[in-house]
Amino acid sequence: MLTRRTILLTGAAAAGTTLIRPYAAMAESHAAMAGDTYTTANGEIVIHPVSHASFVMETPAGVIYNDPVGGADLYKDFPAPDLILITHHHGDHYDQPTLDALWNDNVTMVANPTVFDKLPEEMKAKTASMSNGDTGEARGLPIEAIPAYNLTEDRLQYHPQGRDNGYILSVDGLRVYIAGDTEDIPEMRALTDIDIAFVPFNLPYTMDEAQAASAVAEFAPKVVYPYHYKGSDVGKFEAGLSAAGSTTEVVVGSFYGQSA
Ligand code: ZN
Ligand code: ZN
Repeated sequence: MLTRRTILLTGAAAAGTTLIRPYAAMAESHAAMAGDTYTTANGEIVIHPVSHASFVMETPAGVIYNDPVGGADLYKDFPAPDLILITHHHGDHYDQPTLDALWNDNVTMVANPTVFDKLPEEMKAKTASMSNGDTGEARGLPIEAIPAYNLTEDRLQYHPQGRDNGYILSVDGLRVYIAGDTEDIPEMRALTDIDIAFVPFNLPYTMDEAQAASAVAEFAPKVVYPYHYKGSDVGKFEAGLSAAGSTTEVVVGSFYGQSA
């Protein structure tokens, strides 16, 4: 059973980002729905892990679904999406029937070019195709497409460089990094001022726990959600972070049915 948590982002806000304040009063309207709450200057962000790489994020600018797959039933307790982000075409990230079922007149989408090419025309009309390095706005939120790829020789076929995306979405100055399926690439290690990061670790598709811990220790988000970690050891990831002297808070969400 999930409980709703309020997570306080502490420490000095980086230059240029909105000051993040502790959230004091719980909004009763959300009481029935599990999620982790982060306060921004204009409201709150509530993060709901769904499964593996899929999660829902309520923001003052609208409801964002990341890589929704698994059928619409999984999302029936959440508000309808205003914005859908798709990192790449693999079945644990992109599922056309799920998108068909979630689609509404209001929704817009951001996808990498490979996914964009697979979409039906009516979805293409409301989807921005972003390639690695592209920047833009989605529902008024600044968004950047970050590379996501494998580095290790025998994993290169899973996510070749240049094809798939991660994203940084900025919500009221709070920067959320969704890594996508990637190893500990230099572009990840070089990130700065990340408030909340979603980082994968599962072999052979992405990276191992030690790689993920090493990268997170280097780019030092305030909070990290392990996601896309089926079959991997979150404890090992946490131990790696501790050994590296990291102060990043690890939030273990219910991506695989367990309660954190
Ligand atoms: Zn993949
Ligand atoms: Zn994947």
